[in-house]
Amino acid sequence: MKRKVIIIGSGPAGLTAAIYAARADLKPLVIAGITWGGQLMSTTEIENFPGFIEGIEGPELMNNMMEQAKRFGAEVVFENATQVINNKNSRIVKTYENEYEADSVILATGATPRRLNVEGEDKFYGRGVSTCATCDGAFYKEKTVAVIGGGDSAMEDATFLTRFAKRVYLIHRRAEFRASPIMINRALNNPKIEVLYNTEVREIEGENKVSSIKLFNNQDNSEKSLEVDGVFLAIGHIPVTDFLENQIALTDEGYIKSDDGVHTSMDGIFVAGDVEDHKYRQAITAAGAGCKAALEVQKWLEKLED
Ligand code: NAP
Repeated sequence: MKRKVIIIGSGPAGLTAAIYAARADLKPLVIAGITWGGQLMSTTEIENFPGFIEGIEGPELMNNMMEQAKRFGAEVVFENATQVINNKNSRIVKTYENEYEADSVILATGATPRRLNVEGEDKFYGRGVSTCATCDGAFYKEKTVAVIGGGDSAMEDATFLTRFAKRVYLIHRRAEFRASPIMINRALNNPKIEVLYNTEVREIEGENKVSSIKLFNNQDNSEKSLEVDGVFLAIGHIPVTDFLENQIALTDEGYIKSDDGVHTSMDGIFVAGDVEDHKYRQAITAAGAGCKAALEVQKWLEKLED
């Protein structure tokens, strides 16, 4: 059975695309992934998604989007896509279990937070090691935390965490930040933030909870242990594009290349959300991108039928 459109991914981008495609009677198939819903499934309250005056829990928002897509007839399978094959007149999407065929595909697989890959990180992940300051910051009232990274996210997270923590160490592997000047100034002018430059995290230590991190100064090769209660990683994201096997044009960082945030290098294959957008990475911008992709697919299919 050949479908009109397959959507790979089930975060705000994928599910918004599914809502629009389903309402346009395109009967989309959503390949949602085994762990569906994307990054919002591991957040608590979302206060900046328009329409929710008091905020909404991330999983509740994603459940609502899923039910809304299904209400209009989207079909959903909880499988992981392993390959997309672009033939002349159709697209094939393989999962571990099945093979699906469609005229068009929307790639909305998102991005995952980059990890340090040091000892102790896995052990304490979700229990003292976090990739989401806005989700977990409130657990660190009057505690000491470390933020790792030197980009805008690290500045933003460090500044945000001073609302709760009594002390925030901002740890960066180089002597210069890559963040924008305004964000750097805000962090540097905050008396609760102390910056450790040229410093790498070698290990995250503790018994039942994080108690310290082992640091390496790459200028003088010295090592020291720093007592902290939590570690926030803000070292960028990795777009989920490994299953595409170099068929679609990617940026140097592995994001799907697109001039307009919708079209890819392959006719009939569209993109939406964080797998393309390395800059804004918001639920609302991803949802907007999903909407655009579905509308473009609709136009593309109409042309195909002409
Ligand atoms: P980013 O700009 O890619 O910065 C990642 C930082 O992590 C860099 O400083 C990098 O160090 C460091 N890093 C990477 N891998 C590391 C590792 N293995 N160990 C230690 N450090 C490591 O990522 P981002 O800060 O998440 O920002 C992504 C995009 O979102 C940017 O375009 C940014 O402007 C945007 N953003 C905007 C805002 C805002 O405007 N409010 C907020 C957040 C993000 P090096 O510098 O040495 O490479």
